[in-house]
Amino acid sequence: MKIFISSDMEGTAGVVDWDQCIAGGARYDYYTGLLTHEINAAIEGAMQAGATEFLVNDAHSKMSNLLPDALAGSAGYLSGRFKPMYMMQGLDESFDAIFLVSYHGSMGSNGSVLSHTYFPQGFAEVSINGVVAGEAGINALVAKAYGVPIVLVTGDATTAEETERFCPGILAAVVKKSVSRFSAESLHPQVACDLIREQARLAVEGLQYARETTISVPATLGIRFRSSDYAELASRIAGVVRTGDLAATITDEDPLRLYRTFVTIVLLCRGLVE
Ligand SMILES: [Zn+2]
Repeated sequence: MKIFISSDMEGTAGVVDWDQCIAGGARYDYYTGLLTHEINAAIEGAMQAGATEFLVNDAHSKMSNLLPDALAGSAGYLSGRFKPMYMMQGLDESFDAIFLVSYHGSMGSNGSVLSHTYFPQGFAEVSINGVVAGEAGINALVAKAYGVPIVLVTGDATTAEETERFCPGILAAVVKKSVSRFSAESLHPQVACDLIREQARLAVEGLQYARETTISVPATLGIRFRSSDYAELASRIAGVVRTGDLAATITDEDPLRLYRTFVTIVLLCRGLVE
């Protein structure tokens, strides 16, 4: 049994600020250690339920935050800063289940720690079929394309709620309660890992009952931008329709192509600030 793990970093217990999760930050190495423990807890829980193969797709920042030999379960490690399928690179139909580890709330959510939606400088809000989506919801498009259920999410309470909108019945390990965008009350890291291990075990044990994402196709992904420059650039991509000064939509019956178009917008618009 094969598990795909998409790992971010903002959702790790204890993490509340960018300098803790961006390379070069004062405590970055310490916090990547905490992240690694959480990923390993998810792997260990899945192994207890019979999972045998793991691929960890490092999906945070420059996407090379982990030490490959520190991963449990002889997990493969997919890393590096340009991946066309981004947070879901490496997924295909050979996987049995997906874990989203250390995820965070969407940009428009109410006070979720380090909230953003792929591109904090450019995107104010993303929706799918009219429902506000965080990164988990957007990534569920790829899960849908390959028919693999997302069965576990870890992060703060907002992240769990936002993921549940698109993946009903998903198990969550809520390891912190956000106070604001830069403050949270976290479980002790060991307690957080125990919870993640347990939820991962239950998620894999209950795999036969796991449901696919409820996103129906053709799906419409809407983006509200933070400035019209981004809306202008994005609407030059085939399939992207500008719907207002700060808004554009993409409608597609193919969820994979929809995700690819979204990623193209992210990469193109980022060029304005990088
Ligand atoms: Zn991240």
